[in-house]
Amino acid sequence: MTAIPTVQGHCPACHRTTLILGADGYVTCAHLDCPNPTAASDLLAQQPDSATPSSKPPIPSGLPFDWPRIPIDDTDGTDAWQIIRIATRAGDQWALGEHGSYRQPGMSLSEITGGVIREALLHLLELGLIDIDGERMHGASGWPVRREQFLPAATPEGPTS
Ligand SMILES: [Zn+2]
Repeated sequence: MTAIPTVQGHCPACHRTTLILGADGYVTCAHLDCPNPTAASDLLAQQPDSATPSSKPPIPSGLPFDWPRIPIDDTDGTDAWQIIRIATRAGDQWALGEHGSYRQPGMSLSEITGGVIREALLHLLELGLIDIDGERMHGASGWPVRREQFLPAATPEGPTS
């Protein structure tokens, strides 16, 4: 008989170092007083849904001409909608402020876009609402600029003939 394999780390429910690998293959807390012995395996089971790396598209291996658009639901009330609103307010404040395009006439579109987007992204980072995935950022040989369409298709396209 082999001993029951122990698992490194603390049980999320009782915080004891009493995790074992059960015969069923699931990480289980062996302590009799644990309020939720399956808490560790429950957390592991949630990973595919909540962990960002598995939900991200593959890292571009080269520089494809057209990067596919990925549908993101930004309709009213969604998280994407809210983050766009927060970012837009920050961008608007820059545009209306001392260094913005309203008080500094003659700015190029690129300067305005750069100012607005910089301000919007900095604000989201300040608020902790977005994270920079440095590993991903440095994992690609380059990042494609061109996208397949300007906006994701609202409805699937039917045959054209
Ligand atoms: Zn426990």
